[in-house]
Amino acid sequence: MLDVAVIGGGSTGTSIAYHLARRGYRTALVERRGIGAGMTALSTGVVRSFYSVPEVARMAAYSHNYFLRFAEEHGVDVFTRCGLLVVGGGPDADAIRANVEMLRGMGIGVRLLAPDEAGALVPGLSRPKRFSMLPPTS
Ligand SMILES: Cc1cc2nc3c(=O)[nH]c(=O)nc-3n(C[C@H](O)[C@H](O)[C@H](O)COP(=O)(O)OP(=O)(O)OC[C@H]3O[C@@H](n4cnc5c(N)ncnc54)[C@H](O)[C@@H]3O)c2cc1C
Repeated sequence: MLDVAVIGGGSTGTSIAYHLARRGYRTALVERRGIGAGMTALSTGVVRSFYSVPEVARMAAYSHNYFLRFAEEHGVDVFTRCGLLVVGGGPDADAIRANVEMLRGMGIGVRLLAPDEAGALVPGLSRPKRFSMLPPTS
């Protein structure tokens, strides 16, 4: 007898099924094509917490922290910590600044960088007006 049937074996369904099973629910995962056959197969695999919608940012930060513990939890090292540099400015500058403040208020490790600081981190970068930087979560 099952407790839960999860429909869809992409990153969302497999994660939900895994976490339910870990909590002791008898869980079945139902997939019509193949595990990871949908949009998940197309993903570039970037894990970031820089999002503009608070609920999405909170879920992404949870996932980001999960990936940082992935080897510990699963015994397989699949995650490369590299940080993320988001470049913007001009008419977007105020929105980026507000976004960074919102994420920092949620405890997400984002900070604004001046062009020179970004240039020091990424040699060869040409000089746009503003930068923001998402370093790996510690
Ligand atoms: C080109 C590209 C690059 C991307 N890069 C990134 C990235 O770098 N980082 C990032 O975070 N996100 C990225 N994304 C987004 C990310 O891939 C998706 O948000 C994520 O994979 C969605 O997962 P999902 O499980 O919700 O959907 P899917 O992976 O589409 O899974 C849905 C599954 O449900 C199955 N299904 C549907 N209906 C039924 C049914 N009735 N019965 C049984 N099975 C069913 C499908 O066959 C499918 O396998 C990228 C997306 C694209 C297109």
